[in-house]
Amino acid sequence: MNTSNESLRILQQVFGYSSFRPSQQQIIDCLIQGEDALVLMPTGGGKSLCYQIPALIRSGVGIVISPLIALMQDQVEALRQVGVAAGALNSSLSAEEDAHLRQQLRNGELQLLYVAPERLMTPGFQSLLQQIDIALFAIDEAHCVSQWGHDFRPEYIQLSALHEQFPQVPRVALTATADEVTRREIIQRLNLEQAHHFVSGFDRPNIRYRVSDDSSNARQRLLRFIQLDYPEQAGIVYCLSRRKVEETAAWLRDKGVKALPYHAGMSPQDRADNQNRFLREDGIVMVATIAFGMGIDKPDVRFVVHMNLPKSLEAYYQETGRAGRDGEPAEALLFYNLQDVITLRQFVEQSDADELHKRIEMQKLERMLGYCELTSCRRQALLAYFGDELAAPCGNCDICLNPPETWDGTVAAQKALSCVYHTGQRFGVNYLIDVLLGKDNERMRRFGHHQISTFGIGEELDRNQWRSLFRQLIALGYLAVDQEGHGGLRLTESCRPLLRGEQTLKLRQLRKEDTRKPQKKKASFQGAQGELWEALRRKRLELAQEQGVPPYVIFHDATLMAMMEYRPQTLAQMSRISGVGERKLEAYGQDFLDVLADYPLEAVPVTGGVSDTVQETLDLFRLGMSAEDIAKRRGLKTSTILSHLAKGIEQGLVALSEVINIPDELLAQARELMLEDGEDIRLGRVHEALGGVLDYGVLACIRADLVDSVSS
Ligand code: ADP
Ligand code: ZN
Repeated sequence: MNTSNESLRILQQVFGYSSFRPSQQQIIDCLIQGEDALVLMPTGGGKSLCYQIPALIRSGVGIVISPLIALMQDQVEALRQVGVAAGALNSSLSAEEDAHLRQQLRNGELQLLYVAPERLMTPGFQSLLQQIDIALFAIDEAHCVSQWGHDFRPEYIQLSALHEQFPQVPRVALTATADEVTRREIIQRLNLEQAHHFVSGFDRPNIRYRVSDDSSNARQRLLRFIQLDYPEQAGIVYCLSRRKVEETAAWLRDKGVKALPYHAGMSPQDRADNQNRFLREDGIVMVATIAFGMGIDKPDVRFVVHMNLPKSLEAYYQETGRAGRDGEPAEALLFYNLQDVITLRQFVEQSDADELHKRIEMQKLERMLGYCELTSCRRQALLAYFGDELAAPCGNCDICLNPPETWDGTVAAQKALSCVYHTGQRFGVNYLIDVLLGKDNERMRRFGHHQISTFGIGEELDRNQWRSLFRQLIALGYLAVDQEGHGGLRLTESCRPLLRGEQTLKLRQLRKEDTRKPQKKKASFQGAQGELWEALRRKRLELAQEQGVPPYVIFHDATLMAMMEYRPQTLAQMSRISGVGERKLEAYGQDFLDVLADYPLEAVPVTGGVSDTVQETLDLFRLGMSAEDIAKRRGLKTSTILSHLAKGIEQGLVALSEVINIPDELLAQARELMLEDGEDIRLGRVHEALGGVLDYGVLACIRADLVDSVSS
């Protein structure tokens, strides 16, 4: 048997996907051959299939060690949906369920078993394992073995024993967190010295990173962001305090957003209820402290907003990483303001930690600030921080999309610094700005500051511009915040060259208006398109509720969108849609065909004009990038990019010959088949008639060209 063919067959028939993602095939082959592997792949990269498929191919049951019960349950549910016999052994089972599962194991009836590490290592379970045939061990979230990391689980340490007890069973350790130190620790503690390493980059290309330094009215702008860019979409909004969580959630609800709070001060029951609703309903916005998120595996979280500055880039990357696990466009937005900088510095300075610890924390905060104040690509900086290199600017962060203007802030900075100096290095930003702007008031007179040399010398800038300048001076380390917690500023050593005029300072212009391009908007299909989209989502929710599972376990958004795009009319056509495997085709295919049939093509015209996401593709295409390059750059699938190009062709913006390169004969054949369909060209049928040699995306381009030439 050729195992590569076998794994591809399973990928297609069981999971309904057409091809493997980078390195999945190699990892699977390695395990099938009985060898160990260490897999570092970013969130959403597709780690699960790497052990699920070999477990289906090798004889025996695949044992998956996973630290979180909630996560296990979702995975098991998703596997059952595609027809795989899976179970989870954890503390939430009744004695009866537990016994039943063990019996199934003995009978060899399970293909995959998820188990918590503390269960795995009990003597009873160990002796059970000795009696059965085991396909492999998969150690998920392997960084939990690291004592220095923030997710340390002592039970993971014992997993090293697996190697001695089951030397013939291949093991794979998987994680998305992997700086060099953690990686070494995983290898050493789990005895993986002989394992093959598969290291993918850290990049999450589908996440757009944005930092907003204009924090005035952040709440209002949060609302606009949700209403305009992500209506009816799931997202997470992080706040620093419980009080702010409660207030923000209530305020958003008041404005008609389905927002729920989550923080450690709520009862466990309320927290669990809210988390459940977030997972099981569509379009919930969770407003939370950082207590929320660990083990949240929801694939369709479209945005993560930070209302306050996170305390390190590690925390920021982990929290924003919860967006867009499904690989579809997602956004990370951070509101950042002066008060946060002051508060966080005070937290660190006033903490009980020892000096070394404080210094490290402070450095992390500096790096976080530096990230906010960048004037070059944010993704490049983020990846560099984690030891990854991105050769060119990403094209999908606020800086790349809308480069900030800079100005020579040397003179203004000198004025600000000297104002700090002449007022005695103890006043806060607001008062200092009063002095610079020459506000002659009672307080000013009391201190006699209306007579000092810096009084009123800063009228060329307004209050907001001065705020921005002070923030940058603090972020860049020219000014330090007092230890007592009043927000008083003092000069640091590094100001000297600047004050002496030996150094110039380039500063970022405060951005008044948010002029970025909006991200692809999924839920804002217009008119009939929108109705069809809603109808598909309703059907999905109905099926999910019948079975008590989250909607994405039935089908991901991307699968529903592919249905809208390709309009399958028969089960055979439906089976070609990505995400529709044999079992789901049988269980749900007809349900969704019926929905589609209620919205015939004439009623749902292909959208006119070109949307922003299409425009973005067209722009990159004109720069000479191929569809594959663009897909990689934008973190989208090639077929999606081809469908964008198809829209460009339809609008006469791109020529078919620029996009595709196939033999003339094949092209003619495809055209002929399409013409047989008249007005209502069905790509599914054409695809089949051509024996599947042409990708749907390519067919969409050919159709667009026909439509274009027919109508003009
Ligand atoms: P991770 O565990 O690495 O965060 P998952 O295993 O949950 O990621 O996979 C993320 C998503 O990508 C899932 O929805 C999964 O079904 C999908 N996926 C994985 N591999 C493929 C593939 N080869 N083709 C299409 N989709 C895939
Ligand atoms: Zn960028």
